[in-house]
Amino acid sequence: TIGMLAMDAEGNISGACTTSGWAYKLHGRIGDSPIIGAGLFVDNEVGGACATGMGEAVIRIAGSATVVELMRHGKSPQEACEIAVKRIMNKHKNMEGLQVGFLAMNNKGEVGAYSVYAGFNYAVTSVDNHELIDAGYEME
Ligand code: ASP
Repeated sequence: TIGMLAMDAEGNISGACTTSGWAYKLHGRIGDSPIIGAGLFVDNEVGGACATGMGEAVIRIAGSATVVELMRHGKSPQEACEIAVKRIMNKHKNMEGLQVGFLAMNNKGEVGAYSVYAGFNYAVTSVDNHELIDAGYEME
């Protein structure tokens, strides 16, 4: 999955989320990417979030909507992504091989991301800055 969050010069936030290539494409499976609130959620008053990884786990906690609600209640994008990932980890006692990551941006343009396993990279780009960040953390 590739997720994108963007803010225009007037502070309007938008988001997009692709679905993966052939991975997990079982007949009849939908995954989280096309479900607003799971793979992607944007509220212009608060911010946006998108998800990657095992979609069933993301759907189960309404992942991207959860991240946006956490930001609405004062969490930073980084904190919100961490709480959502940890909620999933608590629901799945065996996370072996189960990668999930969230990316978020709030209405101040602050960003954050968190994933179960290392290797989740994201890029932050503005007019005068471009940065590639590894948001992955090893499972505790
Ligand atoms: N989230 C996608 C899905 O479950 C998979 C992916 O992130 O590549 O369909």
